[in-house]
This record gives sequence, structure tokens and C-alpha cells, in this order.
Amino acid sequence: MQYLSTRGKIAPIPFTQAVMMGLAEDGGLLLPRTIPRIGSETFASWQKLSYPDLAFEVMSRFVDDIPSSDLRDIINRSYTTFTTEKVTPLVHHGDLHILELFHGPTLAFKDIALQFLGNLFEYLLNRDRSVLNILGATSGDTGSAAIYGVRGKERINIFILHPHQRVSAVQEKQMTTVLDDNVFNIAIRGSFDDGQAIVKKIFNDVEFKSKYRLGAINSINWARVLAQVVYYVRSCLHVTGHEKDSSVDFAIPTGNFGDIFAGYIAKKMLPAGTIRQLILATNDNDILTRFVTKGDYSLGEVKMTSSPSMDIQAASNFERYLYYLVDSDATRTRELMEEFGKNGKIDLSGHQDQIRRDFVATAVTGSEVTETIASFYREHEYILDPHTAVGVKAARKFKKVGVPMVCLATAHPAKFGETVAAAIGKPPQVPESLTGIIDKPARCEIMDADTNRIREFLMEKALKS
Ligand SMILES: *Cc1c(COP(=O)(O)O)cnc(C)c1O
Repeated sequence: MQYLSTRGKIAPIPFTQAVMMGLAEDGGLLLPRTIPRIGSETFASWQKLSYPDLAFEVMSRFVDDIPSSDLRDIINRSYTTFTTEKVTPLVHHGDLHILELFHGPTLAFKDIALQFLGNLFEYLLNRDRSVLNILGATSGDTGSAAIYGVRGKERINIFILHPHQRVSAVQEKQMTTVLDDNVFNIAIRGSFDDGQAIVKKIFNDVEFKSKYRLGAINSINWARVLAQVVYYVRSCLHVTGHEKDSSVDFAIPTGNFGDIFAGYIAKKMLPAGTIRQLILATNDNDILTRFVTKGDYSLGEVKMTSSPSMDIQAASNFERYLYYLVDSDATRTRELMEEFGKNGKIDLSGHQDQIRRDFVATAVTGSEVTETIASFYREHEYILDPHTAVGVKAARKFKKVGVPMVCLATAHPAKFGETVAAAIGKPPQVPESLTGIIDKPARCEIMDADTNRIREFLMEKALKS
């Protein structure tokens, strides 16, 4: 499988090169040349596969430059760190299925992609006797999941920017208490979007990027999207019991458009109609909801909400969808993204019909989140985290009788204990991995949101080959 840039200015490259490149060198995002189609018989034959075996079947269709036995080994190692053999178990409450994606080492769905990506990087660096300096910005959960994906790995240093005092205490400690020598946490005085902008700027300096062997771990890395496609496929298999003609809806709490884009790829891969509808759920940062409902993709101020991992305006994966929306026209994609870079908005209302075939969307307020956590607990004695509650609220709005609805549960409630306690009157049970974390020794640099300052720090601490 060859990979192309959404902006069309790089020659096609194989999977492993796309993984190492992260952001395409022309400023675009990498996408597979085609999306493989899975026939109904093949799909049905996957019914009984274990999570790692299914992951191999799905991923291997996008990867042709890693030997199968090596790919299997990377996948197997990535999912033994989860606390359940099912990796992403489904539970059923009322008329909703809850897809629990939080059984990895940092208790959020990002572990599913980043345990895999960490091992994949390690494999490729050993093969090429090379080193990598990972640079990423996080709104909270990506950072710790990325750090846990690569901590202690020999040929990798990791630099993670998070917005100072704008992540939860637990999220902060999950990052800063990892004391391995290869881990560097930087708290910047600014928002997540400021951090993301710094990372983009540094990556856009192609010479600097290659000299310092920089790699990305943000959801712009294609391997992350790919790893997330797997649990959509698995959910369809489990919820429908592969009955013919049965469809599934998914409700997805969305920030950077990564998880929902994986659902979009799964929808295109699977037999037609297997995934009926993708429900995009945002918090008060509703740029993506405005995009789906009105074709209006325009930046607002970043607002702080009770679902901080979705406090994002410019969604870093949006460009991938945009590329498909304009019929894979790279020139048009580049023009539109340049216009967005200049004006902070683009008008896509001319594409409304297609957008509405692909998604429905709704924005969920803070009080609706609290109410949803409270009522779900009352009705089912099951505790939702605030991000999951955003999705569940949207699912209740769009639920159609007779069509199974899968809600992605993206974080464990104990990561956001205060919000949960305010909703249900008691804090959620804290899993073993978080016990006592607040008091553990931590290490972190605090810096201004200044690209030059961050660049200097990188130059000093980067692994040199
Ligand atoms: C990152 C994150 C999201 C949003 O996922 P995107 O892929 O950025 O849309 C939702 N919930 C939680 C808990 C997250 O960590």
C-alpha cells in the first residue's frame, strides 16, 4: 500500500515511511492511496478472532512493507499491556452499547493506538539502527498515552507539550510522574492550540525536522488512525452477530477528529451499510458540529469544559476528511487549508449533502454532561466519564429503534473524578494504576508558548544519531 499526501506534493511512499514521516513534508496529512474493501464473507469469517488476530487482519491490508510475523508480534505485544484480554469490551445498558476503550495503561482510548505506535517505532528504529525524537502537543490524554507507549525505549526521546494548569491534576501527574530518562514534559503558558501550533511550526521546518530526527505521535500519524479502525470493526462483528443486513450506529465524542475519522475509514472498508451512521459529538467547542450542520468551519475561542481532551478548535485530522470531501483533489485541499490558515474559516456549505451523508452532529453543554452522568448512573449504576457522557447524550438524541447504537467510552471515570463526583454525589472508584499518583515525585519544565524557546530545548536534549 502506498501513501499520498492530502496536498499532493510528495511522491507516494510505503507504510513504514509514512509512519516515520508523521506530518507529510508538504504540510499535508498522509492517506492510503486506496481504502481496501472487505467482502461480507471475509467479514463474517472474522467473527471469532481474538482482538490481536482481528487487528492483524485489519492492519495488514494497509501494510505491505513489514513481514507478517513481525507485524503480528508488534500487535501482540501492544495489547498484552491491557487489563482485559478482550482489550475493548462492550457492555450493554438500556438500549445502548458502551464500548470501553479505557483498559490500557493510562485509562484512555489513546492507549490503543499509542501502545502499538510505540512498539512500531521501536521495531523500525532497531531495523534501521536509527533514533527518533518524538514531539507532540496534548490536551491531556494523548501525552500520557504517548509517554507510556515509549517510556524506557532506547532509541527514542519524547517531548510532550501540555497547556500549563489546563489539564486535570490526574492527567498532569500521569505524564510528569514518568521519570524515565527519555521522557521530557513541558508545560507551556497557553492553550492546547498554542502547543499544537508550535509543534506544527517546528515540523514545517523540514531541514530542522530531519536534522533532529523528529517524529510525530499526535493523531496526525496514520498508524494511530489505523489502530483505531480495529475496534469499530470488532464492535460491528459483536453487536450484529453478523446477521445479514444489520447496521450499527456509533456515537463518538470528538476533539481532533481522529477517532471519528477512524470510524469513517471503517465505514468505507466494511460491506455497505454495516455502519449506518457516525454521530459526531462535541462539547461547547463546537466547530465540528457547526461544520456538519451548516458547512461552516470557522475557528472560535477555545473554551474550557468538563471534557478537556476535547477542548480543541482546529481539529488536526480534519484535513483528511476534507480531502475526501473534495473528491481527492489535492490542489483544492491545499487551497482550502491555506485559506483556513489565513482567515481562520472556510465555507463548505456547498458540500452539505455529502457531509450529511457521512455524519450527523450535535454539541453538548456542560450541564447536559452532568445530567447525563447522573441519569445514566441512576438508571444503570454505571459511571460515565465526561467525554463519554458527551457521546451518550448525542446517542440518546439520534437513537433509532432497531439499530444498535455503540457509544465510545473514551476514558475511565476516575480520570475526571471531580466532575463525576459533582454529578453523582460520590467519587468513582480509583483503579490501582492511579492510586497515590498525586503524591508521587514529578518532573516538568514550565515555559512560555514560544517556538524558539522550545526549539532550543529540543536541540539540547534530542538524541543524536
Ligand atoms: C482525545 C480524546 C477524545 C477526542 O478524540 P479525537 O480523536 O481527538 O477526536 C475524546 N475523549 C477522550 C477521553 C480523549 O482522550
